[in-house]
Amino acid sequence: MSLPTIDQEYFVDFLVKLLNTTSPTGFAEPAIAFVEKELSQFKQLSFSRTRKGALVVKWEVQSDLPPVALTAHVDTLGAVVKEIKSNGRLRLIHIGGIQWPSVETEGVWIFTSKGEKIRGSVLSDTASGHVHGADGSKTPRDDEHMEVRLDVRTTSEKETRELGINIGDCVAFDPRVEVTNGFIRSRFLDDKACVANLVAAIKSMVDAGLSPARTVYFHISNYEEVGHGAAAGIPSEVAELVTVDMAVVGVGQASDEFHATLCIKDSGGPYHFGLNNKLRGLAEKHNIPYRPDVYLYYGSDGEAFWRAGGDVALALIGPGIDASHNYERAHMDGLNATTNWIMAYLLE
Ligand SMILES: [Zn+2]
Repeated sequence: MSLPTIDQEYFVDFLVKLLNTTSPTGFAEPAIAFVEKELSQFKQLSFSRTRKGALVVKWEVQSDLPPVALTAHVDTLGAVVKEIKSNGRLRLIHIGGIQWPSVETEGVWIFTSKGEKIRGSVLSDTASGHVHGADGSKTPRDDEHMEVRLDVRTTSEKETRELGINIGDCVAFDPRVEVTNGFIRSRFLDDKACVANLVAAIKSMVDAGLSPARTVYFHISNYEEVGHGAAAGIPSEVAELVTVDMAVVGVGQASDEFHATLCIKDSGGPYHFGLNNKLRGLAEKHNIPYRPDVYLYYGSDGEAFWRAGGDVALALIGPGIDASHNYERAHMDGLNATTNWIMAYLLE
């Protein structure tokens, strides 16, 4: 059986909208709600939330086979306000492994606890070339020296507090989405690209009048970037869990933007040999371009579930993402390969 056709326009449209829905870890609800609303058009699906706020989508079918699950996360790197400085600017502390040079001069939104948002940008504290000269570029780009300049009148801690800003407020960096020649560039494609893969797979199957071979749960996680996203919320009846998350592209990696990747081992150790081989077999059967790879600095939501005591066969697949946790880029070839792989898995 050949796989259903992927609606390319729909995929890109959904992904761009999701990328433009800011969702740093701890403040990912807008993206969770967006995914739920999008999927609610499919009457085959039912929805629930974990207490932690993750979205669990169930596609139930009649089958003697035990259910399976796939997970991807909508939360991204971000920051919170660590301190309000005496000049009214903000010191940040990052959430997850952001690299400060990659967001220098980037626009940000500060989300206050009262539900307002205030605009600003990230600068080093020696930003003016006319004040600091060449020495400005020698300032370390780190938690201590990066600050947010707010686009509102404030020159003191008191004035900034009067704007409603407080320590602990959530900060999101602008996604800067661009689509060119099949490439999609944004922060953060990790892991919104793979959420779009899951949504596109569901839509393509529904459009083609197809259902999964067994009941499947889609776990849309909201705390992956801090290591415990899918630790809870995978039903105990699930026999296999396929984590769908970005593949590592760069020097020494087998992955690239034009293939999907099967991760054999990452920082958390090896995945499940049997499920890996099942996925290899499906890729080969359907001519899905994929590569096996090993990641050096990487943990996944599937591993979080394993460490929390989850008893499933576990695998990790995903599209190659260039410059991950930086200004990321993917290509439709790798993205389509991943969507096709998900469909092949669901239909088998
Ligand atoms: Zn990720």
